[in-house]
Amino acid sequence: MHAATEAMRAPAALEFDLETGGRGQRDDHLRGLLCELTGAEDATAVNNNAAAVLIALNTLGAGREAVVSRGELIEIGGAFRMPDIMTQAGVRLREVGTTNRTHPRDYADAIGPETALLMKVHPSNYRIEGFTTEVAARDLAAIAHAAGLALLNDLGSGSLVDLTRYGLRREPTVAEAIADGADLVTFSGDKLLGGPQAGLSSAARI
Ligand SMILES: *Cc1c(COP(=O)(O)O)cnc(C)c1O
Repeated sequence: MHAATEAMRAPAALEFDLETGGRGQRDDHLRGLLCELTGAEDATAVNNNAAAVLIALNTLGAGREAVVSRGELIEIGGAFRMPDIMTQAGVRLREVGTTNRTHPRDYADAIGPETALLMKVHPSNYRIEGFTTEVAARDLAAIAHAAGLALLNDLGSGSLVDLTRYGLRREPTVAEAIADGADLVTFSGDKLLGGPQAGLSSAARI
């Protein structure tokens, strides 16, 4: 609150490049910090993670297919439903696997001329238990890259630190998701850090 109040009291150089006196980019203020925290090559912030996912899908896959496991077709809150977001982004959803088990060959068999990307989604608010299998992000990245496709990993909240250090349940960190080969990782700034809504995207290799 103090930082926000301070910033609002004086002119802010949000979109001024003070070095050149010309127009700057607002991303410049956070790109370096996010890249340092996540190991990504580039990063940006948009309204919220729902917006980050929508923009990423539309940019990578408009008019083509995104391949997602049936076990990861989430609904979060009141309005974020993965199949609906796909429709809004102009991307055709290609579901693979079953609710409880999805194998590498399910993704590989679905890849064709219409495929634009593979997607992994964190099941933030539910758990599938029992006879289950999912394809790890690292293996999914390998399948995507072998076909010349991008992997988009929606981490939901994600984490910047290893939570097991504090006796909490393990959450995948953004740095791990990048290191595992995802080309684009989206996560929710407000879930992760509190404060105002923000959707964060960290990118590698796009
Ligand atoms: C919460 C969540 C979103 C939406 O994030 P917001 O920042 O609330 O828009 C998207 N995907 C997953 C997997 C989520 O858990």
